[in-house]
Amino acid sequence: MLVNSQAPGLLRGARFPGRYIQGAGAIARLGAEAKGFGGKAVVLLDRGIYDLLLDDVRAALEGHVSAEIVRHGGECSESQIALLSEKARQAGAELLIGAGGGKALDTAKAAARDLSLPVIILPTIAASDAPCSALAVIYNDDGSVAYDTFLPRNPDLVLVDTALIARAPARYLAAGIGDALATWYEAESCRRSGAFNCMRMPGVSLAYEIARYCRDTIFEHGAAALAECDADTAGPALERVVEANILLSGIGFESGGVAAAHAIHHGLCELEDVHHHLHGEKVAIGVLAGLKLHDADEEFERVRDFCRSVRLPIRLADIGIADVTEEKLATVARRACRPGEIIHNEPMPVTEDMVVKALRTLA
Ligand SMILES: [Zn+2]
Repeated sequence: MLVNSQAPGLLRGARFPGRYIQGAGAIARLGAEAKGFGGKAVVLLDRGIYDLLLDDVRAALEGHVSAEIVRHGGECSESQIALLSEKARQAGAELLIGAGGGKALDTAKAAARDLSLPVIILPTIAASDAPCSALAVIYNDDGSVAYDTFLPRNPDLVLVDTALIARAPARYLAAGIGDALATWYEAESCRRSGAFNCMRMPGVSLAYEIARYCRDTIFEHGAAALAECDADTAGPALERVVEANILLSGIGFESGGVAAAHAIHHGLCELEDVHHHLHGEKVAIGVLAGLKLHDADEEFERVRDFCRSVRLPIRLADIGIADVTEEKLATVARRACRPGEIIHNEPMPVTEDMVVKALRTLA
């Protein structure tokens, strides 16, 4: 059967960060790379690593670009974005640099959009595939999610210092593996159903190949990468997994498309219980539940064993849902299956009952 994605004449697409550099000590290249985008930078530095990185960032920029360094307030909210934009305007910034975790990076990306400036992203953890994307999650000032905002372009440069990532807690790297785990399963669902990617079109064939490469990379190197991270070492496995978590998963999800795993993640986030768990940890549960939706029992076993080997949750209790009630499962399923939700990118119809049943097997 000729599915939608194979229909002749239909547009296909993919999107990418402008440039990507990765390696231990990469932060030292920041100034030399930044210079190509402008002479005056405003750097938004995550408050969590501000003291740790301030001197390194200053040293890396010195002699290349003049820079004002701003400490991030903690949220990626409209008020924080406006604050950064105002500071950058006053400083006459020609480029923005965001360094740290997801919220600081998203704040810098959104402000760069508002100012029409180039942006360099320097992630200090590899906990999700957000750094390369043209997407920012906007929060309310109280910490609840307000909305996702699509940006007109991906970051101009993503500079990943694996020595920094190796020094961060291994739990972040494991969560990034969870997010990367979803990439192929969701892209494959979209490929089969003909569902659209983040550009509202099917992906080019490369998108699905990148997603497959992402999956194969984490399966092969995930456990070894975590052992290297425990030893604070950017060894060969960690290098491969960081590339999968940030670059391959980033391109794979934006260009291949998203489906059940992230829809179930959104559903799980409706429960207060899961709020202390990381995005990728909840996504891993979404992948397992998604495989149950497909009745893919053999693949489920394989992925569950993999999750165990990379310290990812395999049961609802592992993400804080100790008391699994029918009411909670119904809440998750209702959110996951909303009309127009990405769960409907799956190649078969998915109902709330199916999601409840799948989640029950993880209780
Ligand atoms: Zn994700």
